[in-house]
Amino acid sequence: MGEKVPQLVDKEPRPLSRVERTLLDFVLEGPDGSPELRAQGASAVAVSACDCGCKSVGLEPARDAPDADAGDGAYGLSADGTSPTGTDVEVTLHVVFGRLTELEIWDGSMTESESRGELPDISTLRYRERD
Ligand SMILES: [Zn+2]
Repeated sequence: MGEKVPQLVDKEPRPLSRVERTLLDFVLEGPDGSPELRAQGASAVAVSACDCGCKSVGLEPARDAPDADAGDGAYGLSADGTSPTGTDVEVTLHVVFGRLTELEIWDGSMTESESRGELPDISTLRYRERD
């Protein structure tokens, strides 16, 4: 099928947009947030963007923000919601070796992995239990 794998492309670091900040803070306030992750989140800037059209962004916390529990190496904190047009949107904050790396905002599960760049309505988001 020659399906293209979505990739994060490096960008000039920038502050998070309001919507990115809202989604990140929502996930960090959830049951799997920790003081270390929240400190990283508070300092994080966006350093990359996904090339597939979805709204996922790569994150870089401040260097002096504390490391979080590394767990098994990599894990995600997720919440599920729907966009104003009724599309399922998953928000996953990826943590790799105790550092925030990506805020994934994925709206392609109902459209055969084609993102339309939709964002969840914040009021619909529900925390997902970590595997
Ligand atoms: Zn993407």
